[in-house]
Amino acid sequence: MAREFVKHTDAEGTDMATLTGTRTRTITGHLANLLEYPNWLIERDVDFTNCKFDGNFDDSQVACVNCQYEAGCKWLTGLRNINPATASVSELTGALRIAIGYVGARQSAGHQKNCSCEACEWLCSARQLLRSQSR
Ligand SMILES: [Zn+2]
Repeated sequence: MAREFVKHTDAEGTDMATLTGTRTRTITGHLANLLEYPNWLIERDVDFTNCKFDGNFDDSQVACVNCQYEAGCKWLTGLRNINPATASVSELTGALRIAIGYVGARQSAGHQKNCSCEACEWLCSARQLLRSQSR
C-alpha cells in the first residue's frame, strides 16, 4: 500500500530516513522511522505563520506556553534536537511515547479498533514497539 506522505527534510536540511525504507534492523533505526509519521503530521497541524520564534519552542516564553500549538511545537522542537544517528533508545522512545499521546488524542471516536487508516496503523505499530521495549 502506498504511503500518503512523502519524504521530507527537517529544518536543518538533513535528510531523514524514509518510513518505507525500513531496511535498518537496529531498534534506533526503527524508532527513527516511526517518528517520521508524527513529525509529518504535527508539522501539518502547527501553523508557524504568526510565530515570532520561527517554530523554536521556548519554555521560558509566555507566548509559547500559551500558544494553541504548544504541544505540537514543543514536540517538534524536541525532535529537531535529536539526531537519529546518535540518539539513545530512551531519547527516541520518549519522543515516540509523546507522539503516541498526541496522535491518539487527535483521533476522533470514529476510529474503531480495526480501523486501517494511516494514523490508526501508525498508533498500532508504535504501541507494539513500545511494548516490545518495556519487556
Ligand atoms: Zn483510523
